[in-house]
Amino acid sequence: MNTRPVCIVGGGVIGLALGWELARAGKRVLLLERDRVGRAASWVSAGMLAPDAEIQFEEPELYQFSKESLRRWPDYAQALEAASGVSVDLRTEGALMVAPDRDSAEAYRRIYRFAKEQGLNVEWLTGDEALELEPFLAPRLAGAMHAPETYQVDNRRLIEALRVALEKAGGEIREQVAVVAVEPDEVRPAVRTAEGERIEAETVVIAAGAWSGQIEGLGWKPPMRPIKGQVILLTMEPPFGLRYVVRGPDAYLVPKSDGRLIVGATMEEMGFDTRVTAGGLYKLLEGAWELVPGIYDLPVQEIGAGLRPGTRDNRPILGYGAPGIVLATGHYRHGILLTPITAQEVARLILTGETSPWLAPFSPERFLTASTPS
Ligand SMILES: Cc1cc2nc3c(=O)[nH]c(=O)nc-3n(C[C@H](O)[C@H](O)[C@H](O)COP(=O)(O)OP(=O)(O)OC[C@H]3O[C@@H](n4cnc5c(N)ncnc54)[C@H](O)[C@@H]3O)c2cc1C
Repeated sequence: MNTRPVCIVGGGVIGLALGWELARAGKRVLLLERDRVGRAASWVSAGMLAPDAEIQFEEPELYQFSKESLRRWPDYAQALEAASGVSVDLRTEGALMVAPDRDSAEAYRRIYRFAKEQGLNVEWLTGDEALELEPFLAPRLAGAMHAPETYQVDNRRLIEALRVALEKAGGEIREQVAVVAVEPDEVRPAVRTAEGERIEAETVVIAAGAWSGQIEGLGWKPPMRPIKGQVILLTMEPPFGLRYVVRGPDAYLVPKSDGRLIVGATMEEMGFDTRVTAGGLYKLLEGAWELVPGIYDLPVQEIGAGLRPGTRDNRPILGYGAPGIVLATGHYRHGILLTPITAQEVARLILTGETSPWLAPFSPERFLTASTPS
């Protein structure tokens, strides 16, 4: 093929999913990843698909976007599994927001009342009712909100499925290639790599997660805020076997079908520092143990930290940021949840030039007037 490719910078879930979407629509796709695909935030993630458990009082547009993405997830998972032959382990048991004391119960009750007003399918449980559903919870709890429409996937399998599907659809992935700059142009935008190579594209997409603000040449600097999250992976050993996603004020626990139990996650603004700290681990274990004391004896499999790609206003940045240059970044705490809608709607923008109403609230234009030139 001699046509110029759509060149995607960054191979996290967002870059991979967009690549697959475009490749299966017949586009030539070249994905450039400076490390190995899927080893940054997408790897460390907990894989929850949880718009209701994190319902935000002040963000109705992002909330609707998240709900729509959740709605698309089951079909998306099925199509991806069929295309790749890799299961992403979509689980639909739901989540329990567990209040260990009166203060947290009051806070969760407010969220519950708001969720009910929005017509959401959530219920309030006494401590005993919660224990009946999930026997591994601590015995004396002040109450819990059950959010059945919280799903989860195995984010590491998702990465593998997307990589396979993208390559099977004819997309090309080049690892260990860092892009240092983009060159906007209506017809022939291009990227420059750290090795000095210049690659002309049909469209360039910046999907470089928390590092999306470091690529030169855009003409403005996307206001990224890396938010560090530390996690601990435990191994569930029988008779221990948590079924539900359990969330509390200081930690969450997410059981995976292969026996991993993800305990997460800190929220820290530490620049690009991804070191795991004693204090971070301590807080997570204390917060998780308060909710599910049975974790005490479980072996530790892995510890790690990743950078959530936050933005100045905590909304994703989706759309053209310069002639020929699309941004698909800033998914902050919800990149896995938002994978289907982002890939489908941004692909539509690239393929047809139409900005769907879903993307309008997240346009880069909101930063173009008030930004610092790069
Ligand atoms: C601890 C933690 C828990 C989370 N839990 C959840 C959850 O339960 N549910 C949920 O929906 N979301 C969750 N998230 C958020 C979610 O993981 C992210 O929003 C999502 O992974 C972002 O994907 P991405 O592709 O934009 O970024 P990343 O996965 O960070 O990928 C960006 C990629 O770009 C590459 N790159 C960067 N610069 C360049 C360059 N110059 N040239 C080439 N390549 C480059 C990087 O190497 C990287 O591979 C969590 C995040 C963390 C850290």
